[in-house]
Amino acid sequence: MRDPREASAIAVANRRARAAVKASIADGSVEPLSVARTAWDDETSVEATLRMNEFLESIRGIGPTKVERILDELKIHPRKRLGFLGVRQIETLGEWLRQRPNSNGSTEATGKLIVVAGPTAVGKGTVVARIRELHPEVRFSVSATTRQPRPGEIDGVHYFFVSNEEFDNLVETNQMLEWAVVHGQNRYGTPRKPIQEALDAGESIILEIDIQGARQVKAAMPEAVLVFLLPPTWDELVRRLTTRGTESAEEQARRLETAKVEFEAQYEFDETIVNDDVDTAAEAVVSLMSIA
Ligand code: 5GP
Repeated sequence: MRDPREASAIAVANRRARAAVKASIADGSVEPLSVARTAWDDETSVEATLRMNEFLESIRGIGPTKVERILDELKIHPRKRLGFLGVRQIETLGEWLRQRPNSNGSTEATGKLIVVAGPTAVGKGTVVARIRELHPEVRFSVSATTRQPRPGEIDGVHYFFVSNEEFDNLVETNQMLEWAVVHGQNRYGTPRKPIQEALDAGESIILEIDIQGARQVKAAMPEAVLVFLLPPTWDELVRRLTTRGTESAEEQARRLETAKVEFEAQYEFDETIVNDDVDTAAEAVVSLMSIA
């Protein structure tokens, strides 16, 4: 059994450590969002042991009445510890913290999550490659996939190439913001952590994923901007699909059917950009981030 004097010394040290964190939030030397992130990343940290009411009350301008209202809105119990919230609670609290003005008086939520999707053969890959060339400062999400690397593709740059077991594990441990089986074959998914880190740092990030994935991102993060790339005309899409010469007539017909269904999804998106000219389409995507 632990010596009672030792136990009480530990308790005092913990209380002091918590008080120090609260003091740094109160004097503005550390942002509440970064305290929360430490708590969520490491449940053995001091930050993780802060109760929700004491965490929020240490933010300047927030008193007990406000705390009660905020926690009620966020559906979090005041005595709950910051490091032990549910997934949904982390999402809502994270969003709330990002939306509030930081110690400099500006909103932390300057970064945007841009999701680029579109029907087969619309030229998504080309537009995204052009953005990389024109704007090397733009951040891109690197997806995980179970498909084999193609020649020239680098692990960690183009994709994280993982086994089926590794993919299962990423999904089970809730590390994926979204994932889907694409073209009925391989699984593809967006790792959650880099997205969260970019947004917390106030930076925008682009995801180039399929339509099913785009829907999932919107459901999890309604503030995401969904961009649908369109071909100049429907006939042009048919032409692009049928003149590649790489697919059999049967495969072409199947892809056209898929494209028709995918085409309809444009009405669920926030923005549509016509891929008439690659440079113009690339700049149109970048302008949504207001960084050009
Ligand atoms: P490819 O195998 O040609 O690199 O990509 C095939 C498809 O997978 C593309 O339509 C691409 O948009 C989609 N994709 C790539 N990464 C992701 C992802 O993380 N999530 C989802 N849902 N789709 C993805």
